[in-house]
Amino acid sequence: MQISLTETAAELKAHERIVLTAHVNPDGDAIGSSLGLMHALKALGKEVQVFIDDDIPAAFSVLPGYELIGKPEEGQNIPADLLVAVDVSLDRIGRVNEAVKAPTLNIDHHITNDGKADKLYLDGNAAATAEIIYQLIEELGAPCTQEMAMCLYTGLAMDTGWFRFSNTTPNTMRVAAALLACGAQPHVISEALEQRPFAEVQSLAFALQKIELLAGGKVAGICLDHASLQEHEAPEGLIGMVRVIEGVDIAFTLKEKEPGLCRVSLRSKGVDVTKIALQFGGGGHVRAAGCTIEKPCAEARIELVKAIMQVLEETA
Ligand code: AMP
Ligand code: MN
Ligand code: MN
Repeated sequence: MQISLTETAAELKAHERIVLTAHVNPDGDAIGSSLGLMHALKALGKEVQVFIDDDIPAAFSVLPGYELIGKPEEGQNIPADLLVAVDVSLDRIGRVNEAVKAPTLNIDHHITNDGKADKLYLDGNAAATAEIIYQLIEELGAPCTQEMAMCLYTGLAMDTGWFRFSNTTPNTMRVAAALLACGAQPHVISEALEQRPFAEVQSLAFALQKIELLAGGKVAGICLDHASLQEHEAPEGLIGMVRVIEGVDIAFTLKEKEPGLCRVSLRSKGVDVTKIALQFGGGGHVRAAGCTIEKPCAEARIELVKAIMQVLEETA
């Protein structure tokens, strides 16, 4: 059932033991939104824990509360009155689903949200879930602290490509300004999150050699099979480099993370790439979507390219 922001605040106020979670393969918005909301709920006297079923990249240790994020163990039972999933539908929270047996509240900005949570607050116009969480925190009447501001600013900055993407709205900027006023430090966040290990920068050179241009230059992508990924770790943000190629509308990366399991990222300058991601059980936003294809790299590439070409034709 979809609910309003006021009802979302009331739902949080009505519960005491709250577990927060976000998507596996967590990004700045997933981590920042969870931690930001955690700080606000703690300030209101709630018993709050954050569990994410994945490893959290060390670069995020710049966020206050990073060390408090737990990873559920197999068979673990985490007692709670309410499970809150942010930046995701309930199908991508991994083991948290089994570990927490409680009513579910979902707060998200993905238009592809499956609506399966008991209660859902969805705002597809929000650039990041962090933008929603800031508004929610105002609604809750919790104090805007530096800790919270650092976390939410990170979510906002990373989901908007540091305020460059088309999802950046006047409201995004107003929220960012409010977070700066609360003590967020953009330079500290960007320095921590934009640093890369030497080996990763080197692997960028390897990956970029594999760029292919398709559809007369309207599509560009990089496929990295499992063997290559064993030798050269896939660099973060690779898709961003494909996206900037002149004339390219749809950019993709396909990484065979495990033999027969490929993680796909899609970006566009106009075409609705959720139409491609949804065909493989994924989702996302009009201009940024993703999915997982359970096929070896070469086969997955053929299916993905076919789907991209179809959507491109339909849109032409
Ligand atoms: P990424 O390419 O991983 O940065 O993802 C781009 C966008 O698509 C993000 O908003 C993700 O949350 C969303 N997304 C990625 N993979 C999936 C998936 N398997 N299911 C649903 N949404 C996804
Ligand atoms: Mn996310
Ligand atoms: Mn997000």
